[in-house]
Amino acid sequence: MTENAHADLVVIGGGMVGLAVAYEAASRGLRVTVIERDRVAAGAGHAAAGMLAPASEAEACDQALTDFALESCQRYPEFVARVERDSGLGCGYRKEGSLLVALNRDHAEELDRLAAFQRRFGLHVEMLSAAEILEREPAVSSKAVGGLFAPDDRQVDPRRLQKALVAGIRHRGGAIVQHARVTSVDTAGDRVTGVTFTRAGEQHETNAETVVLAAGAWIAGLPVAAARSLPMRPIKGQILRLRGQPIVSHVLRTPDVYIVPRESGELVVGATAEDLGFDERRTAGAAFELLREAFRLLPGIAELDVSEHTVGFRPALRDALPAIGPLGPRGLFAATGHYRHGVMLSPATAMLLADWIVDGTLSPLLAPFDPSRFALTASPVRGGMR
Ligand SMILES: Cc1cc2nc3c(=O)[nH]c(=O)nc-3n(C[C@H](O)[C@H](O)[C@H](O)COP(=O)(O)OP(=O)(O)OC[C@H]3O[C@@H](n4cnc5c(N)ncnc54)[C@H](O)[C@@H]3O)c2cc1C
Repeated sequence: MTENAHADLVVIGGGMVGLAVAYEAASRGLRVTVIERDRVAAGAGHAAAGMLAPASEAEACDQALTDFALESCQRYPEFVARVERDSGLGCGYRKEGSLLVALNRDHAEELDRLAAFQRRFGLHVEMLSAAEILEREPAVSSKAVGGLFAPDDRQVDPRRLQKALVAGIRHRGGAIVQHARVTSVDTAGDRVTGVTFTRAGEQHETNAETVVLAAGAWIAGLPVAAARSLPMRPIKGQILRLRGQPIVSHVLRTPDVYIVPRESGELVVGATAEDLGFDERRTAGAAFELLREAFRLLPGIAELDVSEHTVGFRPALRDALPAIGPLGPRGLFAATGHYRHGVMLSPATAMLLADWIVDGTLSPLLAPFDPSRFALTASPVRGGMR
């Protein structure tokens, strides 16, 4: 038997980006259904550190991506406040900024290069002496030779944010269907008409005029011809979580590692960037390298519990830029390819896509991320950084 339902918008994929898009659309009065093949919030967003750091990431971004990141970071406080109000849950949004630390001359040269990118993109950073770094974070290694302070960098806890988004979607009347397998995105003529999926052996159809594909690194596996035109590949990230008394309050980075402190005292230490397909192995070598570099930066980690070693798959398109906008038949949209910045870019992605879907307003900020660009060009792979 086939069960029928109706929605204004179906989002396929209940990860970081899909949940943000669904929440924003539901906030604007749309009837929203999220269809997730597994459990929601268990994709890359579950592994992610949650840095909202346009300045620290400047070298990995171009001007268009930096502009989009700045827009998203500007929207973050309002977005988080709304999600927290609707859900009654905190998201761990913190404003201490990032300290980028040089522990040797090679690091110092890398930070000089990063500072040049930051200046070019108009990002605000301050040069710090070793003494100024230790004044801000006394637990940092005494080997520090200098660094940069990015006061506008922020962080959020992606697990708490996604949990709050799920509650916010439900609060706004949205539906979330988990453990469902999408069998088709249905069309009539050149228009989308809905989605057919199976769950617990039963077939379901949800009619909808708009469908957003947000299946992250797995998007090419969807039963949609247009999705297969996206040159997607997973970039594996291994990341550790340590527990103990809080020893720092800023996000700390060297060119080799980052350490993100949570209010609870947890430290998130990341991350590898491996082009190995969907390889789920948690390797001793990765743990060793992450801990070695984290220890060089913050010797006090030696006393902490290693509580988790997680693998996540960043959704990376060939040009390392996201794909946000129409794709294929009318009413079908993509919101994917956020690679290493999906947590940071979620509010702008959700809000600007909702402007487009609900009001028909297209922000020029989205133009560089047109999903149809891959039909026209074949550019080389960029990025590969942490
Ligand atoms: C180690 C690591 C650290 C990171 N750190 C940061 C950071 O500090 N800051 C930052 O901004 N970003 C960070 N990222 C990147 C960020 O996590 C991703 O860009 C973001 O999660 C992408 O969101 P997404 O919704 O596209 O994909 P995901 O979060 O992976 O969600 C995709 C969802 O789609 C579901 N799905 C897949 N196939 C189907 C299907 N056929 N049907 C239905 N559902 C399906 C999946 O199960 C999953 O739930 C990090 C990533 C990793 C791995």
